[in-house]
Amino acid sequence: MSDLTPKQIWIVGAGPAGIAAAEAALESGATVGVIDENPAPGGQIYRALLGVMKPEIQSRVDALHAKGVLFLNQTTVIDAPAVGELTVKGPNGPERLRYESLILATGARELFLPFPGWTLPNVMGVGGLQALVKSGLDVSGKRIVVSGTGPLLLAVGAYLKQKGAKVVRIAEQAPAQRIREFTQRLVGYPYKLGQGIPLMLSIGATVRTSAWVERANGSHVLESVKINSHQEPIRCDYLACAYGFEPNVELATLLGCELHRGFVEVDETLRTSVPYVWCAGEPTGIGGIDLSEIEGKIAGYCATGNEKAAQRLMPTRARWMRFAAMLEVTYALRDELKTLPNPETILCRCEDVSIEQATEWNGSRAAKLHSRCGMGPCQGRICGAAGRFLYGWEHGTVRAPLVPVPLSDLTERDPELTNHTN
Ligand SMILES: Cc1cc2nc3c(=O)[nH]c(=O)nc-3n(C[C@H](O)[C@H](O)[C@H](O)COP(=O)(O)OP(=O)(O)OC[C@H]3O[C@@H](n4cnc5c(N)ncnc54)[C@H](O)[C@@H]3O)c2cc1C
Repeated sequence: MSDLTPKQIWIVGAGPAGIAAAEAALESGATVGVIDENPAPGGQIYRALLGVMKPEIQSRVDALHAKGVLFLNQTTVIDAPAVGELTVKGPNGPERLRYESLILATGARELFLPFPGWTLPNVMGVGGLQALVKSGLDVSGKRIVVSGTGPLLLAVGAYLKQKGAKVVRIAEQAPAQRIREFTQRLVGYPYKLGQGIPLMLSIGATVRTSAWVERANGSHVLESVKINSHQEPIRCDYLACAYGFEPNVELATLLGCELHRGFVEVDETLRTSVPYVWCAGEPTGIGGIDLSEIEGKIAGYCATGNEKAAQRLMPTRARWMRFAAMLEVTYALRDELKTLPNPETILCRCEDVSIEQATEWNGSRAAKLHSRCGMGPCQGRICGAAGRFLYGWEHGTVRAPLVPVPLSDLTERDPELTNHTN
């Protein structure tokens, strides 16, 4: 059992926001630890492959290590049992940690929306297929349809093409006019424009706007997709699909942080409604890596009382928040997507609950109690988000453990507080 270490900061999430927060907190003299469930730091965008980190993040992590920052990899926060305490589950089993200040940098996940056939093998998330290819899946010669919304479709489409796949269609649900306006406004963000132009040159010809997959066909595995703008089904081996991002707010909710429009509510110092808890990156709003980085820095400074250093960064944050607002307007989801599933379409993939079974009840809680919707391994992370878009379901309550754990972890639930000395 350890006493509270002065200025002990724990950061949950080792993506761009978490790494930037660690750098700023360390600069302000704190003792810093970073927890992430992945095998290595990097988050979604700098995800390490087979344990090898991308060079752009490796050098920053090495520098943090060298200055004493502790990284708890393969470690998931599963509970917040008392004020100032977290329960984590890592390679050595459950542990309790104490924090003086906590920074949540838990990122976001892809948003999946159901349509007939979406549970067929080889229908997967856009980022999911990209991650599989990065870890060795050979897609050369494979016919792939990418669908959903947002700049990620182009990035992944171009990547798959580079890996030898035949990207036969990119179906972007946003209308062409909105994308044209977005592109014109990118002049104010030349570096983003510079990223977009090569992608359009590589893969732009396959893009159709106001287009979405109505149905995935196949007897045992995906064979073709029917796109609204296309008479005939398009033959394909893979469908990669994502309708933007859903913030990971489960830990924030468990801690009691207020949400606004599904995101963690923060003030300009990124302080949440819960004392000593800050939040940075995608849980506060979807804005891409640049917004996550700058928020991580601000939270790292503010959580260590160095608000003067944070003040300097606030105009840059405001600029990237304007970019985030442009993304939100451009890629807003259209109502037609709500009409795609039929009564037999599965909503909860973990528990095999159909749309008909889940919507017989009013709201996510009733659906959960009566049909087991949201009670499987993903704990409603997929179907809950879909239900919020389709039926206006409320955010459900969150209880520990945040992820399913073996029973033994719960019976050994009250381990001693661990003093990680950096
Ligand atoms: C699937 C996917 C693919 C993407 N691909 C691209 C791309 O190709 N190009 C691009 O520009 N942008 C891409 N993005 C967007 C980009 O990744 C984000 O803008 C950026 O990573 C946000 O940084 P962040 O630090 O806020 O969150 P993240 O990078 O998501 O980091 C959050 C971290 O928190 C960890 N975490 C969450 N909860 C817990 C917990 N309870 N316990 C322990 N750890 C936890 C997660 O494992 C994760 O490592 C992608 C996003 C996703 C979801």
